[in-house]
Amino acid sequence: MSTILIVEDEERISAFVAKGLKSAGFTTHITKFGVEGAQLAVHGNFDLVILDIGLPDIDGFEVLERIRGQGVNVPVIMLTARTSVVDRVAGLEGGADDYLAKPFSFEELLARIRLRLRSGGQGGESSTELTHNGLTLDLRSRRAHVDGRTVDLSAREFTLAETFMRNAGQVLSREQLLSNVWGYDFDPGSNVVDVYVRYLRTKLGKERFETVRGMGYRLV
Ligand code: CA
Repeated sequence: MSTILIVEDEERISAFVAKGLKSAGFTTHITKFGVEGAQLAVHGNFDLVILDIGLPDIDGFEVLERIRGQGVNVPVIMLTARTSVVDRVAGLEGGADDYLAKPFSFEELLARIRLRLRSGGQGGESSTELTHNGLTLDLRSRRAHVDGRTVDLSAREFTLAETFMRNAGQVLSREQLLSNVWGYDFDPGSNVVDVYVRYLRTKLGKERFETVRGMGYRLV
């Protein structure tokens, strides 16, 4: 089992991430502080670090510098504000392995984590494809194959399709899909799920995505 350190001072985000990771089979540890985060990352035997940039004591870049300065190569995924391209570049130059713009969905984060753990040779999921009933999702190329045809999906469509594939045969509510694919910042009254299910039906086959009245959707 992989253990993940979350360095994030915003409680709703750290709780959201920790809850999702726990149900995906990971062990987590949360700290709000950069100094403590750096110490834990260096000495705590973590498999991966999720690192926010804006922290109450030292910022995420300083944390990253301290970790790499000690010669520790633990994979680090940095969380950045959506528009701050400068942050992203600085994060990667400072030795971050990846970054994710806020607000992010849990599925996006999980995909990055799995990728990092895999490339670090520390386990995680070995399969790079999901297959169900003539539909295959290639998790590397982010493409779908339906009955021998290759279909391009947008990032959001792919994440939604992936969520269905990982829960094939189960009814998923709009709320579940919204929080999984669109993240914690989305308006629960939005009809975006219905709109995207329609896109997937058009691209991947109408009969695959069954509407379960009053409950949600199911991948057949
Ligand atoms: Ca913050």
